[in-house]
Amino acid sequence: MPLLVQNGRIITATDDYVADIYCAGETVTRIEPRISSETLPHGPEEIEIVDASGKYVFPGFIDPHVHIYLPFMGTYAADDYESASKAALAGGTTTLIEMICPGPNDEPMDAFQTWRSKAEGLASVDYTFHMSVVGFEERVREQFRHIVEQGVSSFKVFLAYKGALNLSDEHLFAVMKMARELGVIVTAHCENADAIDAMQKSLLADGKTGPEWHGPSRPPVVEADGVHHLCSFAELTGAHVYTVHTSCDAAVRQALAARHRGVNVWIESVAPHLVFDESSASLPNFEGAKYVMSPPLRHKANQDVLWNAIRSRSISTIGTDHAPFNFRGQKDMGKSAFTMIPNGIPTLQERVDIVHTRGVSEGRIDLQTMVDACSTQAARIFGLHPRKGTIQVGGDADLVVYDPHYRGTFSLKNSFSKVDYNAYEGWEQKGRASVVTVRGEVQVRDGEFVGTVGRGRFIGREPTHG
Ligand SMILES: [Zn+2]
Repeated sequence: MPLLVQNGRIITATDDYVADIYCAGETVTRIEPRISSETLPHGPEEIEIVDASGKYVFPGFIDPHVHIYLPFMGTYAADDYESASKAALAGGTTTLIEMICPGPNDEPMDAFQTWRSKAEGLASVDYTFHMSVVGFEERVREQFRHIVEQGVSSFKVFLAYKGALNLSDEHLFAVMKMARELGVIVTAHCENADAIDAMQKSLLADGKTGPEWHGPSRPPVVEADGVHHLCSFAELTGAHVYTVHTSCDAAVRQALAARHRGVNVWIESVAPHLVFDESSASLPNFEGAKYVMSPPLRHKANQDVLWNAIRSRSISTIGTDHAPFNFRGQKDMGKSAFTMIPNGIPTLQERVDIVHTRGVSEGRIDLQTMVDACSTQAARIFGLHPRKGTIQVGGDADLVVYDPHYRGTFSLKNSFSKVDYNAYEGWEQKGRASVVTVRGEVQVRDGEFVGTVGRGRFIGREPTHG
């Protein structure tokens, strides 16, 4: 059914104006000061009309860093594409980029097929993938070329997780050379694996086993070292790189210093690092495990640094690193040693509202910067733009009609994720998506999913970093 959004205040990464938007099919076909329904070739009952008076109209938000299907030490993350899609959409996210995370012995092509099969039929958001490279022997290299040809134009590498996911420097260099050749960007988890491994062992040997020791096992210098290392290899190979979940002043400085030298590096932050600090990981009764992620939550002083870098657009994106593991039965695998706690602070549904509540409402960033960081930059960096990430004629009709006056509370009872806790439980929420559309079809109204499970589509992407 055609869609007409009237009287909304349209906010993009650069613009702010009032207009009507008409979508004849899956794309935006007209944007004009006033589009009367009488001038359209349909009766009023044949058009979905959304009154956006007093509300913002944002481009659909894009989460560039999500985990849904995720094996970890014999268990699996709690969400599937149905629950994760609903969570994303309720929070205004219409496209997500999931990390394909094979184990070191898995064939890359098999992993690609497995991850795709998990989404098909269950996704109601549009989605695409970053392809993790956890080994790069000669034997598997052709498979990565083939995966790029299938529309996955970004790699993910780990400098962390010694013996499980981290790449040797020999392989890291070779991946980056191939990425440069193919025009594919390399996203990277930047923490020095060997330093972490040594510090974890010595903390555990001293009987320091609780979740509060996760942070001390990987301090800021470990992350700054990882960013520096990645950027050095980018400088040598010419590869374009993207530091995921960049958490602290020291790491941001390394990326900016590299950018100053001419390295093509983009910086991602994730919502949890903007609003939580290390004290959460020290909550009693093992509650701190809910707040274990890597890089860890940092000293509070880093939050202002991150927000300021978002405001100046030095940090390009705000993602989530949504990794949904239950508190009971999964996080508690690490009761005897923090190194066994599955990492993640589920935030897929809360991201945009957190950024609006703590960022825009508190004056840290403006609305255009919120759109830029939560949608437009992810689209540009990862080859989705201009189909996604902005509102323009010809683009996909992914729209978020957002009520900035809504007041509520973040809570497990409102969340679609299957995880058994909400890290933001009881926090005040300012603003909420009233209507969310994906390619012209309404998927969410006022926090309720009204869409079609399985309608989400895999979005193939061309390499754009040549
Ligand atoms: Zn991640």
